[in-house]
Amino acid sequence: MSRIAYVSGRYCRQDEAVVSIEDRGYQFADGVYEVIAVHRGHLVDEALHLLRLARSLHELRIAAPMSDRVLRHVLRRVIRLNKVRNGSVYLQITRGVAPRNHAFPLVAFPQLVVTAQRAKPADPKFLAEGAAVISIPDLRWARRDIKSISLLPNVLGKQLAREAGAYEAWQVDADGFVTEGTSSNAWIVTSGGVIVTRKADHDILNGITRLVVIDLAAKAGLRFEERAFSLAEAKTAGEAFLTSTSSLITPVTRIDGAKVADGVPGPVTMMLRRGLAEHLDRLADGA
Ligand code: PMP
Repeated sequence: MSRIAYVSGRYCRQDEAVVSIEDRGYQFADGVYEVIAVHRGHLVDEALHLLRLARSLHELRIAAPMSDRVLRHVLRRVIRLNKVRNGSVYLQITRGVAPRNHAFPLVAFPQLVVTAQRAKPADPKFLAEGAAVISIPDLRWARRDIKSISLLPNVLGKQLAREAGAYEAWQVDADGFVTEGTSSNAWIVTSGGVIVTRKADHDILNGITRLVVIDLAAKAGLRFEERAFSLAEAKTAGEAFLTSTSSLITPVTRIDGAKVADGVPGPVTMMLRRGLAEHLDRLADGA
């Protein structure tokens, strides 16, 4: 069965879907995106994703192609048409189609593309062992808070990780502090049990999973600090993990080939992971 995509006003077979070669997303990466998890048919933290989407659009001065109400309908229809119960929905909005010229076109209609995919079951061995990350210099622009489709440094970084046999690359700023992964936020738990992740300013994407985990930690009464941590601090931390919509909370047990603590997923990480799983179930139960 071909997958079905929503492409600028139409639902069509994904293998037949086309966009213009003058779409500014294609020519300038002039657009934004979101990835929302689907858990038991429910769009996880959809409102938070739509808020971040509105913010990204606003920062780039791209008009929303439709109201949130209609967008929510399109997302649900794409999920249904693709029979996705557990997986994710991807949406991308570009500034529109216009003759190539860097400045904004006088007339352009933002173009929306939506696709949905089923989740691959997580490999239990991977979870039991945790993930390896490598460190790389952060080569990105100064507005990483905008979820732009311009992802070239992220693509190159993830490829370096793959080639090193690692799951993710943690990007490090000019002062030696970890910003975030190429598609995830970075966290440590100090040997004193304090959960640490970088403050959400222009230097990182404010992950929705990040926000949910901060909330879970607060509700569980865990100690939490929002501050930058250096690569050196991460390497000597008690625990490390990463968060994203698709990786949830994934323990990080090796950094640049060296074990984090004793090299196995830590107790705080696994407790938060269980808390996140319960959060997803609560949302799906409508509680
Ligand atoms: N940082 C970057 C650079 C990302 O691409 C992502 C995933 N989109 C995240 C963090 C995590 O964000 P979220 O929890 O919203 O998936």
